[in-house]
Amino acid sequence: MKARDLASSAPSGTDFHRLVVVSNRLPVVLSPLPGGAWNLERGSGGLVTALQPVLRRSGGLWLGWPGVGEGDTEDIDDVLRTESEALGYELRGVGLTPEEEEGFYLGFSNQVVWPLFHDFQGRCNFRPRYWDAYTSVNRKFAAALAGEARQGDFLWIHDYHLMSVGEGIRKLGVTLPAGFFLHIPFPPLDLFLKLPWRFPLLRSLLSYDLVGFQSVRDRDNFLYTVTSLIPGLELRERGRLVSMEVAGRTVTVGSFPISIDVEEFADASRTPEVVRKAEELDVAHRPPGTGPSKRGLILLGVDRLDYSKGIPHKLRGFRLALRRYPELRGRVSLVQLVVPSREDIPEYHRMKAEIDRLVGEINGEFSRPGWTPVHYRYGQWDRLELLAHYRMARIALVTPLKDGMNLVAKEFCMASPESDGVLILSEHAGASSQLREGAFLVNPYDVEDVAATIQRACGLPEEERRRRMALLQDRIRSEDIHWWVRTFLDAAKGRGEGDEVEPLKRYVPPLPSGFMEGL
Ligand code: UDP
Repeated sequence: MKARDLASSAPSGTDFHRLVVVSNRLPVVLSPLPGGAWNLERGSGGLVTALQPVLRRSGGLWLGWPGVGEGDTEDIDDVLRTESEALGYELRGVGLTPEEEEGFYLGFSNQVVWPLFHDFQGRCNFRPRYWDAYTSVNRKFAAALAGEARQGDFLWIHDYHLMSVGEGIRKLGVTLPAGFFLHIPFPPLDLFLKLPWRFPLLRSLLSYDLVGFQSVRDRDNFLYTVTSLIPGLELRERGRLVSMEVAGRTVTVGSFPISIDVEEFADASRTPEVVRKAEELDVAHRPPGTGPSKRGLILLGVDRLDYSKGIPHKLRGFRLALRRYPELRGRVSLVQLVVPSREDIPEYHRMKAEIDRLVGEINGEFSRPGWTPVHYRYGQWDRLELLAHYRMARIALVTPLKDGMNLVAKEFCMASPESDGVLILSEHAGASSQLREGAFLVNPYDVEDVAATIQRACGLPEEERRRRMALLQDRIRSEDIHWWVRTFLDAAKGRGEGDEVEPLKRYVPPLPSGFMEGL
């Protein structure tokens, strides 16, 4: 499709010819090589895969930090230009000084916004200099964007690092249509109000034409915040979209759950190499006495090292399951991968020490010859290993305390070899709204609930496992990453009515039976 076709498919609302994406990181990572040359690695992942065709079709542009310092950007312009030609769309780098990176990225983004928006107010470092760095880097991105933007563009800004770019470009006189997507949760009003810079941040979010969230939970938290603070706003609801007039402009807010490239993922997890590796892993983890035809009962956890992932809570839940249900001992193991993350923040070291200790305690309490309850790996798996682990595991234990979406849950389901895996999923993951029907939802703070659910999932008959997994896979297939890009861009073009895929409600757990009796 040519650029004009992209625009001509827009019936009304905002027409645009070219897509301009702005994200903290470019979809390529550069690192210096000896002798002054640069090594370039292409990013992968669902988001990049899904955006690239639209960028190519519209002759688009992607602006972001290429992972190098400010002074280096002139050097790398040539590298990015050559890569742009190969990719079929343009790349533009925004260089950051080490001080900017520290205050903006490690400081405000990861020690203010990340904890606050994941409901961990106590972990926030509300340092004014972090906010200064954040606004200054956002202004830098805004200036770079304003320099590139032209008539007919749609500007799509991504994530919590760049919330203030919207206001930055408006101040520079850019009136082009602009959308923002928040990949992490949006907090409830009371938490948002703790932020010392709540008003400027909110102003910036309201300077976009379209603001996208992962779930109805986040969308409605934002709407409640806006309508509580600005009196007299009238909301018009159209399926997943809600519009309002703010200072004479229309701002549309929507819920757009992100996903994975389902087809690509399902195919990749069925290659002979992955199947072979999964079989090897299965044999290696099989407890003594398990017949050769039976897959071992492996629970799998794949989490970045982050307090939002609730890894210690998960380990306590697993420990309680082994204590309460002796029949699980010797039969069930947890394979837990913890991916190093934000190692420059001391808090993350303490968290790792706690995980190390808990794993040691559980293995110390229950191990017996030939059976280890927790196989723990601190590191990264390559794609082959990750897919093989998804295939090998019977149950995925995905129990974040709060998560914008959680792609591991979706990846596990699409890799399930005989569509008979079981997903145990936190209610507080964004994915719970979409996956509530096939998954076992748990409150990760409730270790007894987690332990009982592990026991139930381990004994689930094959027919029931298949029934649940079919529901999960159907849902994930129908709302994959390409659907996500389409739905966001349709909303940006003023479409989106009639998009009533399901009751668009925030997930809340059902009341236990008998709750109302005798009240
Ligand atoms: N992942 C990876 N290598 C690993 C483990 C995980 O690339 O060793 C990927 C995984 O496939 C998934 C992503 O990391 O796509 C984690 O995404 P998720 O939404 O679950 O959590 P996040 O880390 O973004 O909070």
